[in-house]
Amino acid sequence: MSVCPGTTSVPRWDEERHIATGARTVTILSFGADAATRARELLSSFDGCRTDWMCLPAEWGETAARVLGSRLGGARVGWRLVLVGSEAAVLSATAAAVAGGLLDAEILPVPVDSTDRTVYCAHCHTAHLATVEVGRCTTCPNCRTELVVYHHVSRLHGAYLGFMSDAEERP
Ligand SMILES: [Zn+2]
Repeated sequence: MSVCPGTTSVPRWDEERHIATGARTVTILSFGADAATRARELLSSFDGCRTDWMCLPAEWGETAARVLGSRLGGARVGWRLVLVGSEAAVLSATAAAVAGGLLDAEILPVPVDSTDRTVYCAHCHTAHLATVEVGRCTTCPNCRTELVVYHHVSRLHGAYLGFMSDAEERP
């Protein structure tokens, strides 16, 4: 599969490692123990801002959603959200934060490991977590479709798009 680097929506994280100026308060959410070290480094880089940091489970889930939801509920102008964790957790949290009204420019995604990806099945519209490279296959646990993980990340779903691997050969 060939992909034009100019049009792919796979995050180019280095370009996203900037955060809108005017930050007054910064909340760092780190996912899992591996992310904590990175989060501690980041904490010291926000001099002059009020910062708080919460360690969350490694995978995005109900606990993280609840914590993020309560932070979003109390958000004020000048609040920035820093997300440190696996790419899957960071993308899920970003999707939830954007859905909660935060702008992309107010979110700093810091993925620390990208082996696990959330794959959104285009056939049954469910997402699952898989240790899979982009361009490779994973089987949807819900509908058992063999999916190719495509070079497209849905910001809405916080997931890579997966579609049937032999779709093009079908009559
Ligand atoms: Zn499916």
